[in-house]
Amino acid sequence: MIIGGGLAGMATALALAEAGEKPVLLETRRRLGGRATSFVDRRTGQVLDNCQHVLMGGCTNLIDFYDRLGVASMIRWHRTLTWTSGNGVFERVTPSWLPAPAHLAPAFGRLRLYDAAARRAIRRGVWRILRLGRSGRVAWQDRTFAEFLATCDQPADVVRRFWNTIVVSACNLPVERVAADAALKVFQEGFLANRFAAALGVPTVPLDDLYAAAPAVIEGAGGVVRSGVAARAIAYDGNRVSGVVTNEGLVKAYAVVAAVPFDRLDKLVSDTLRAADPRLQPLGRFEVSPIIAAHLVFETPIMEMPHLVLVDHDFDWIFEKGRTGAGGQHIQLVKSAADAWIDEPETTITQRAVADVHRAFPAARGREPVGTRVIKEKRATFACTPEIGVHRPRTTASGVGVGGGGVPNLFLAGDWCDTGWPATMEGAVRSGYAAAAALSDGCAGVIEDAPIAPVARWLGL
Ligand SMILES: Cc1cc2nc3c(=O)[nH]c(=O)nc-3n(C[C@H](O)[C@H](O)[C@H](O)COP(=O)(O)OP(=O)(O)OC[C@H]3O[C@@H](n4cnc5c(N)ncnc54)[C@H](O)[C@@H]3O)c2cc1C
Repeated sequence: MIIGGGLAGMATALALAEAGEKPVLLETRRRLGGRATSFVDRRTGQVLDNCQHVLMGGCTNLIDFYDRLGVASMIRWHRTLTWTSGNGVFERVTPSWLPAPAHLAPAFGRLRLYDAAARRAIRRGVWRILRLGRSGRVAWQDRTFAEFLATCDQPADVVRRFWNTIVVSACNLPVERVAADAALKVFQEGFLANRFAAALGVPTVPLDDLYAAAPAVIEGAGGVVRSGVAARAIAYDGNRVSGVVTNEGLVKAYAVVAAVPFDRLDKLVSDTLRAADPRLQPLGRFEVSPIIAAHLVFETPIMEMPHLVLVDHDFDWIFEKGRTGAGGQHIQLVKSAADAWIDEPETTITQRAVADVHRAFPAARGREPVGTRVIKEKRATFACTPEIGVHRPRTTASGVGVGGGGVPNLFLAGDWCDTGWPATMEGAVRSGYAAAAALSDGCAGVIEDAPIAPVARWLGL
């Protein structure tokens, strides 16, 4: 029995069903997808994603999952990212012919939005990150990325305008709060490890369409998908979990995979179960980090590039979402780690979004959107701070040490588990594959990381 039909739960169910098991997937909502989802906007009738979701070339498990669902072709890969600090100056970052880890160096080295001293500081920081290797990264897990940057002599404006620009989008926390190892992983494996790692994958369809086939694929392989069924409690007999209490009664199970966020799981476990399983005891320590998306529709097109990285703006990214039937354009701005804005009214956030559009595209100044929609996700991701790393639980109860011990037939999955990744779709799928492999010998388990390029490996990665 798998509780939760987000990416973690779907991945668990799919892997188990394909291995010949009979998983039952319970999802409280009518749709699968969890936090990476779409909805019909009541104001316009349009299908909108809760927020733009992107992946990177290094997301091997998520790519495998899309492949299994037959939707990998619905992801468009972009090797070029466009950056701006405003006033209509757009700079393209495209990998050169150089082998990894140097493939992006010429493009970043040319960015005029950083002056020569800033570019030297960035090179110094990147070199240090490369030479740190994976073992050096792990040694930083109990400190923040800002503390790491301080050891590389990074000026404050370089921290804010370069490092934070990348980290806040990738980890949904600013450099002052994010665990250093999570941020270091983004640079080591997302940018330096190999040529494809930094490619940006953007779905060409609403997120919902990516999972449209999931129930049929899971059921076709022998599983069962029950949407609209809420788990109320995990039944525990004092030794093992015996099933799940749902709004439709008790459903017995040989094993339970809880693939829900930590706060939901907290509500499903009794005090006795919590006392029996150390993985469940720190659930109350997790904090959340919000993300805000602002959708704007303009009567005439604003941008030609598919997306834009914003430096010196309020928002972090702008995505082109397509032309409207009337010749206009739909764009979406994303603000990560949006704690300071979460209680702001929609009108204020919209004004900031429009101001950012005007700042980035001078030709749009004076033009106002004809349609707007702000989506606030207060509990978008867990906050990947240095304090929480040690509490991220393992999938299985086996093993000793922090997160070890516990109830043997209770498995945990979800982006907040101990995946080695920040809160991402990749982390969610990894946790699901890990849970499936722990349950069934027939499951292949977590897909390996993309290979590290020889020169990058030689230099220390
Ligand atoms: C605004 C926003 C932007 C994001 N952008 C990105 C991005 O660009 N790239 C990226 O990689 N990641 C991004 N993420 C993170 C990504 O969406 C998550 O990491 C991932 O979707 C988490 O999947 P999950 O399966 O672990 O959890 P969830 O998606 O939360 O799935 C849990 C499921 O359990 C169900 N559930 C809960 N309680 C019960 C119950 N009692 N009974 C039955 N079912 C229950 C829920 O309805 C849900 O479907 C973003 C997240 C948000 C919110």
